[in-house]
Amino acid sequence: MKKKPPTSVVTGAAGFLGSHLSDLLLAHGHKVIGIDNFVTGTVDNISHLGGNPNFKFIQQDVSEFIFLNEPVDYVWHFASPASPIDYLELPIQTLKVGSLGTHKALGLAKNKQARFLLASTSEIYGDPLVHPQTEDYWGNVNPIGPRGCYDEAKRFAEAMTMAYHREHRVETRIVRIFNTYGPRMRLNDGRVVPSFISQALKNKPVTVFGEGRQTRSFCYMSDLIEGIYRLMMSRYDQPMNIGNSSELTMLEFAREIIRATGSRSKIVFKPLPQDDPKQRQPDITRARKILHWMPKVPLNRGLTDTIAYFRTKI
Ligand code: UDP
Repeated sequence: MKKKPPTSVVTGAAGFLGSHLSDLLLAHGHKVIGIDNFVTGTVDNISHLGGNPNFKFIQQDVSEFIFLNEPVDYVWHFASPASPIDYLELPIQTLKVGSLGTHKALGLAKNKQARFLLASTSEIYGDPLVHPQTEDYWGNVNPIGPRGCYDEAKRFAEAMTMAYHREHRVETRIVRIFNTYGPRMRLNDGRVVPSFISQALKNKPVTVFGEGRQTRSFCYMSDLIEGIYRLMMSRYDQPMNIGNSSELTMLEFAREIIRATGSRSKIVFKPLPQDDPKQRQPDITRARKILHWMPKVPLNRGLTDTIAYFRTKI
């Protein structure tokens, strides 16, 4: 007899990562139920799935009770504003989706005896004093600063996930996602990749914050989604960093974007936002060992695809 396809619920399915994850799950033969309230997600990201009999969409805030009739095998909790500008504008919704939304998504997983994966973040390390960041580092977070609503919501979400794991024996996974880029990022989400690319494509000044000495490490979305899929399918229930470990300063990154777009833009310096982490690079030893995963797409190739996408949007 043919095995029934697994059913996955993806919260935040209309977002940048949620929509790419939904595509990968469908390609692996899953039935996907996507949930999103379009606060930061957009219908454009999932419009290609319209009419796909294996994809069902529910417009809902996941901070409210999630009611589903059918059996569910996997719950992937991706819903949250995720760019600093978004969560500065939506601090309460960010706190609610990280806390109440995680609680509802865990409740759904418990009820359906499904496996649960939390999309956590490198932000739980705050402005890190350990470099590169290993999963056993507890972080350096300002709870009451402008980023606190996101960082603390995700820290709470990790605590809640482990509580459901320990008390209710829910099978859980926690991925700590580092900076990721690719097509379907929102042009105006304020993050450095869409900001620099759109400024460069318009030959407008590229806005480097501070002196541009702060570092980030950018992972292409297909590498990230593959790592996350492997984590869910693994037996590993402790937090796992997924990201690319090639680190560069924001000034170097601005120059790279200007080069890659062939732009005439000049670099201008703007004030550094409060609590902006000075350095960030994932230690991915754990993912390499346990998932046999490592990123494959080099920055120049990932940027070529991302720039091509943004050209169609400008
Ligand atoms: N940044 C910048 N110019 C911009 C937007 C961001 O220099 O127009 C810097 C920002 O200060 C940070 C880094 O780029 O150091 C990454 O910012 P992003 O908002 O993408 O996300 P974060 O990694 O801080 O969560």
